Amino acid sequence: MTETPTATPPFASANLLLEFVNTQPGPKRARDLLDDRAALVEWLTSQNLYDGEAVITDADAAAIRELRGAYTIVFREHVGCVQGAELLGGAEQLLRAYGQRYPLTPVIEAGGCTFQPSHTGIVGVFETLLAAAVDLTTRDLWPRLRMCSSSSCYQGFYDRTRNSSGRYCSMRCSQQAASHAYRDRQKKSCATEVAATRAV
Ligand SMILES: [Zn+2]
Repeated sequence: MTETPTATPPFASANLLLEFVNTQPGPKRARDLLDDRAALVEWLTSQNLYDGEAVITDADAAAIRELRGAYTIVFREHVGCVQGAELLGGAEQLLRAYGQRYPLTPVIEAGGCTFQPSHTGIVGVFETLLAAAVDLTTRDLWPRLRMCSSSSCYQGFYDRTRNSSGRYCSMRCSQQAASHAYRDRQKKSCATEVAATRAV
């Protein structure tokens, strides 16, 4: 039986990236929380990422939405989503370009090495969003950031299953998908029975 993933991620970096992808509009939210400059400032403030002084423009909001889209595609890949899989190459290319534009600073200490943002302001925000992915990769947790497979949900979640098999953000989404699949099977089997009866 598949274990149920929970919504609470264990690290701040996972939490940040899930909050980030979950700003986009979808079945559960009509409004894009990073729609423009003002919305971006509001979201950054809620994440303690805005110092109150950084100059932020609508172009920054557009760029951050682009980064968010690339993360979303990667998180869909982590759950094995076939639909839109052809977009992965472009998303990875875009993430590489962001990595070149916003290089991180390696901080090497006796206990290990981390990659930290190199700047403050909006540049530091982009670097923080990239550093979070590096942090999760060094913890071997990167593939656990996923998008819920339910078409009526589409939320990012952290997969806590032991065998890394979680496809849904909650028990509710998992049960809904199971009952949809059951209904589909019933419909198909009814159709087959009708066809078989007609053929006799
Ligand atoms: Zn869900």
